[in-house]
Amino acid sequence: MLRVAVVGSGPSGCYTAQSLVQLDSEVYVDVLDRLPCPYGLVRYGVAPDHEKIKSLQGSLRAVLEHDRVRFLGGVQVGPGGVPAARLRELYHAVVYCVGAATDRHLGIPGEDLPGSWSATEFVSWYSAHPDSPRFAAPSGPGEAAAVDGFLRGARSAVVIGVGNVAVDVARMLARGAAELAPTDMPQAALTALAASGVTDIHVVGRRGPSQARFTTKELRELGTLPGTDVTLDPGELALDPGYTDPAALPAAQRRNVEVLRGWAGTSPAGAPRRIRLRFFLRPVELLAERGRVGAVRFERTVPDGRGGVTGTGRCEDVEAQLVLRSVGYRGVALEGLPFDPDSGTVPNLAGRVLREGVVVPGAYVAGWIKRGPTGVIGTNRPCAKETVLSLLEDAPVLARQDVPGDPLAVLRAEGAEPVEWSGWQAIERAEAELGASLGRGVVKLPDWEALLTAARAATA
Ligand code: NAP
Repeated sequence: MLRVAVVGSGPSGCYTAQSLVQLDSEVYVDVLDRLPCPYGLVRYGVAPDHEKIKSLQGSLRAVLEHDRVRFLGGVQVGPGGVPAARLRELYHAVVYCVGAATDRHLGIPGEDLPGSWSATEFVSWYSAHPDSPRFAAPSGPGEAAAVDGFLRGARSAVVIGVGNVAVDVARMLARGAAELAPTDMPQAALTALAASGVTDIHVVGRRGPSQARFTTKELRELGTLPGTDVTLDPGELALDPGYTDPAALPAAQRRNVEVLRGWAGTSPAGAPRRIRLRFFLRPVELLAERGRVGAVRFERTVPDGRGGVTGTGRCEDVEAQLVLRSVGYRGVALEGLPFDPDSGTVPNLAGRVLREGVVVPGAYVAGWIKRGPTGVIGTNRPCAKETVLSLLEDAPVLARQDVPGDPLAVLRAEGAEPVEWSGWQAIERAEAELGASLGRGVVKLPDWEALLTAARAATA
């Protein structure tokens, strides 16, 4: 019998647990998460209007409800919680599936001006992440937009970066109340977005359209948004040789270019909102206006012939009362584990953690902390399986370690108060009740207190 702790209950953690119990009938898995809720970025990253991707929660749920898998939410591993070394004593092996917990920085002047946020902060807010920035509650009907920190007084928004997260946040800014109300987004975010005065959303890439990171399905969806035109600058697009002649591009990029070429050939319908896709503009500074961001200064770039770009010295200022920096996620170093600051990952060999090239016994990684923040949710399945195959190969040695009969009892005795599956189910019920009281479907609880109160009510 092998007891394994999986740290993180997002897709990579769930797929790791699934592979472990599928490939070995003697393995018991505890999936620990810092949050009282499972599913990681599927719950707190996938945009609320992407119901089909969100429905993946159904298959992740089946993993966490497996006989030999236990969900233990609300358990912090590392500083302030269960020390990593202690966790290692309680289990034969620990697999870290903690994702990429922070965002990359631009490193340009004005980046931290009020009104400039990382896209992940914005995503966390509309996804009801309990750590998301809190704003003053509206003091009366119709006041939400005035008091809300993201959208206050904003007419023009700039999204920096052209990946799928950039497309997500642009789409959420463009969606109207009727489209957002059926989602599970928290009521305060719904009220604020529904009252938003943002009419122009500039999504800006530093390289060309054939080098954009968004996927075609997500790009195409921008053209279907009610009340929103997608606009492009044909002269800017034509700077990209891959745009003018897409024949030699890989299929994914060629499909993107075909969608953009289709849009570039049509005139805007005069809709009330516009998503402006811009390219070959490198952010150099965020400019202040009355103590908040007022514009982003970009330098025009041109292709360097090697897939990169060079600056031209010519600048363009784009008005923005809201700036969302969507330039990718970054892994964070974990207590007691080696870390490569350049890639933001834990050095590993097929999932086995390596310290200075030597395997760290019993420590494994899967998902973004293993390979960096790339790929779609399904990419985590083979990634997790590779790690699990390594772990099971090591099982005969790992199994020699003495571990307590039930690590949960030890965790409790040492002060942890895990939210078990019944606690999570109670949160689900509370979210359904909240939604019903608001005349909506399920509505997420947006703060720690509400989540823990609901979970603890189940235990009581
Ligand atoms: P991403 O795909 O890595 O895109 C990051 C973007 O930021 C790129 O356009 C990049 O440009 C740009 N960038 C990086 N540094 C910059 C700088 N200093 N100045 C200006 N631009 C800069 O990251 P992401 O959008 O955060 O997505 C992360 C992962 O999640 C991806 O694998 C994505 O597909 C996935 N995801 C998927 C979905 C979905 O399937 N619906 C939704 C959300 C996220 P360069 O290319 O020039 O570096």
